[in-house]
Amino acid sequence: MKTRTILSDLDCASAHIYQEIRATDMKYKNRVRSRISNLKDPKNPGLRRNVLAGSIELSRMASMSAEEMASDELKQLRNVLTQEAIREHQMAKTGGTTTDLLQCGKCKKKNCTYNQVQTRSADEPMTTFVLCNECGNRWKFC
Ligand SMILES: [Zn+2]
Repeated sequence: MKTRTILSDLDCASAHIYQEIRATDMKYKNRVRSRISNLKDPKNPGLRRNVLAGSIELSRMASMSAEEMASDELKQLRNVLTQEAIREHQMAKTGGTTTDLLQCGKCKKKNCTYNQVQTRSADEPMTTFVLCNECGNRWKFC
């Protein structure tokens, strides 16, 4: 059954070519690249561990979003940054209150803008966000 073998060889080869064509597709390339960089990310050992341990299958990983792959620390950081951005936005919007009663710990000048924000539940004290108008240093206290 020589013909049969040749035919299946051809089938096999064309399947490989098809895969190669797909593999050169930019989208696919980028996808693979982002997977690899995620796996190599030293800040994300959990993902690598999970893949190595087989608890995340590579096929599943291919369909994971960047969000899903992000490490917990990264997720947390993103959360914090989002919250900070919201506060900054609030401060920019309200303008805050300029005071010379607060001293900047960095440049020791007393030219600050503060803003009080209710960050947690209503019965908890307000958090005061301070911005130094001299050096841009930011800090907060309750
Ligand atoms: Zn300052």
